Amino acid sequence: MTTIMVLGAGYAGLRVVKKLAHAKTDAHIVLVNKNEYHYESTQLHQVAAGTKEPADVVFDLRKSLPDSVELIVDKVVGIDQDNRRVSLEHHDPLSYDYLVNALGFESETFGIKGAEEYGWPLVDVDTALAARKKLEQTLARYQTSHDPLDLSIVVCGAGFTSIEYLGELVYRLPQLSKRLGFPMDQVKVDCIEASPKILPMFSKDLVDWAVDYLRKRGVNFHTSTPITEVRQDAVVSNDQEFKAHTIIWTTGVRGSHVIADSGYNQKRNRVVVRDDLSVEQHPEEFLVGDVSAVPDPQSGRLYPTTAQISMAQADTAAANVLARMRGQEPQRFTFRSLGTVCSLGPHDGVAEIDRMGTLKLKGKVVSVLKWIVNERSVLELADVRTMLESN
Ligand code: NAD
Repeated sequence: MTTIMVLGAGYAGLRVVKKLAHAKTDAHIVLVNKNEYHYESTQLHQVAAGTKEPADVVFDLRKSLPDSVELIVDKVVGIDQDNRRVSLEHHDPLSYDYLVNALGFESETFGIKGAEEYGWPLVDVDTALAARKKLEQTLARYQTSHDPLDLSIVVCGAGFTSIEYLGELVYRLPQLSKRLGFPMDQVKVDCIEASPKILPMFSKDLVDWAVDYLRKRGVNFHTSTPITEVRQDAVVSNDQEFKAHTIIWTTGVRGSHVIADSGYNQKRNRVVVRDDLSVEQHPEEFLVGDVSAVPDPQSGRLYPTTAQISMAQADTAAANVLARMRGQEPQRFTFRSLGTVCSLGPHDGVAEIDRMGTLKLKGKVVSVLKWIVNERSVLELADVRTMLESN
């Protein structure tokens, strides 16, 4: 029997599994994932700020997957492309006929000294929860330490994750101040960004609005300030030092280390794929999500790694696995953005909707939009069984 193996149960991997199971193929579909659950990576900043609990963002795979999909819970440690075999930490190697690699992302430190040691990344449920504990314990300690650094927080980078985290943080801090008894007016929040721009994918007026929103709530932005070192109690940019006892590391992501470990031709653990999303010389193997690098034929630049693009890639990869099995021509990946939403806490945000020109939105209306985006992903991914049975 033909085996289709899907690695990773993030947005892309789960979507592929859903599409394949829907197609009612005779193939044996195997999903390998290191956890028994899927987590909503787009909501980790909320777990880290404490505005959502881990239980709000995780979904039990065993309860969600259709019976036609075999779930193997284990860590992938290597892929042998030539022999079509995947090595796992605790199971024997598994063979496949078709592979969809959706192993996802890890925190990017760019080799910056101390970043791994002292920065708190938000890359999965465990790290987001650890960052929350670190924040709350440090703020609580102020009552006895009276050390101003216990009330100082540095957020590294001003991309999506940083800005969305800051939005939740400024919403949550007054609640924590009441609960933990620290003075709100002594709290210091610094955001350090290497580039001159914040949220470069948004138009200037929306960025200005978002920055103004966060500034009014106490965030100090430092742009054109590349971080060169992280210490236990400071973030360093050349000769400047930003002292803090809580350092949130959100300067971007790279693909899974399994890519480099398996000898792929890669950059930051991302592999440039062909226009049907397959890997050079391996028409049976597809890469989707953060482990893939897909050139946008219009701009010639690589598409960013977003959940929306991952899901679009998943649709193409699933269709192309089926096409290959049937001896048909695979399709090219095309992507048309629906738009981008950046939340600023639970009740505000900025958004650009790419339909009928570009519609720009800011404020409370965006929180409704964000809710819809999140609910849609929950419906389409987590409740896979309902989706599979419904059509
Ligand atoms: P990002 O790449 O979007 O942002 C990282 C930021 O850190 C960049 O602005 C970068 O210039 C900065 N940076 C990097 N090195 C630095 C250094 N040494 N010193 C100071 N600043 C530095 O990464 P992210 O926020 O982790 O997001 C990862 C991906 O996920 C992106 O493609 C993003 O678009 C996507 N994402 C989307 C959403 C959404 O759609 N709402 C939310 C979160 C993430």
